[in-house]
Amino acid sequence: MQNNNMPNTKAYAVTASKAPLAPFSLDRRTTGDYDVAIEIKFCGICHTDIHQTRDEWGGAIFPMVPGHEIAGVVTAVGPRVTKFRAGQHVGIGCFVDSCRRCVECRKGLEQFCAEGTVFTYSSRDKQGNATYGGYSERIVVNEDYVLRIPDNLPLDGAAPLLCAGITLYSPLKHWGAGPGRRVAIIGLGGLGHMGVKIGHALGAEVTVLSQSLKKQADGKRLGADHFYATSDPETFKKLQGQFDLIVNTVPAANDWNQYIGLLAADGALVMVGVPDEPVSIAGFPLIARRRSVAGSLIGGIAETQEMLDFCGKHNIVSDIEVIPIQQVNEAYERVVKGDVRYRFVIDCGTL
Ligand code: NAP
Ligand code: ZN
Ligand code: ZN
Repeated sequence: MQNNNMPNTKAYAVTASKAPLAPFSLDRRTTGDYDVAIEIKFCGICHTDIHQTRDEWGGAIFPMVPGHEIAGVVTAVGPRVTKFRAGQHVGIGCFVDSCRRCVECRKGLEQFCAEGTVFTYSSRDKQGNATYGGYSERIVVNEDYVLRIPDNLPLDGAAPLLCAGITLYSPLKHWGAGPGRRVAIIGLGGLGHMGVKIGHALGAEVTVLSQSLKKQADGKRLGADHFYATSDPETFKKLQGQFDLIVNTVPAANDWNQYIGLLAADGALVMVGVPDEPVSIAGFPLIARRRSVAGSLIGGIAETQEMLDFCGKHNIVSDIEVIPIQQVNEAYERVVKGDVRYRFVIDCGTL
């Protein structure tokens, strides 16, 4: 063990459900043999942070330091670390540990660990301690759960790749987005705009399905081939049977049956946004064209690294608005109102 303790790391936390974020201090663990100590430069604000601080999914652990789109610089490594050295640009995404032994971990699907993935915040590590996320100055993570951020990408724009980027990259790859494939993205927010950029870079024909046409010019600039308003009933008539893959990023329940009708034979409607209530689905439209409805959760470590390397090669980062930590509560309100183009990123130097 290195004697590299980091007491009193400055952070922002919520102390109870729906409380505002406020200054907080925490102790990061000593850098262990296989640990990487990271100075956090930037952390994105994911809509999940808002669901979690308001305990909308149940099971939240307070006090909670949110943040799982972490980009920073390595400050120290444990004596047995082989993959990282001080000074490197690195990222931490939605989880910081898993069992490494179960079937899913061995397949590189650590996000589905059978023994329980240790998430970056509002989770418990193997010692039972609460985990604290990226709205903080530093973090210590086992090297196997640390990602390399390509040097050509700015750290602020790269931060959202650690959740929004991988959450769209993984289903786009899994369901074969590429040349000749027609992909629709529902909701042009933090996740959705990454889906447009990555889907376009993969060579797919990309359509945005947004509530209105307000973001149409942006959608085209980001790489969309087509843009439709879901508030217009004509959209659903015109696009019947058109898509091989539809990724739904909306953070609320919407009418999945309408979207199933837009799938071609063998098409898939994939949820990444989390609906707040159960959704009912009619069977016949699925049977008739061998369509499927599925879900997807972030991506494993190897795939997240593949995504970062892909984004480095294609110069893809998120469109961001950088804020000081002191504006985080206003930023939450603006995300809920849809008033962000397209991701808030906290400058953690302002802590
Ligand atoms: P976001 O930035 O708020 O974007 C969501 C977009 O959905 C909005 O920009 C809006 O796009 C559309 N929208 C919002 N409210 C709507 C409503 N009531 N009806 C229809 N459309 C609506 O959120 P985000 O950070 O992208 O996250 C989206 C969801 O994904 C959240 O539920 C989050 O928890 C979840 N998530 C899942 C994963 C995963 O691994 N599965 C990972 C990260 C986040 P338009 O204005 O274009 O309509
Ligand atoms: Zn997220
Ligand atoms: Zn496991």
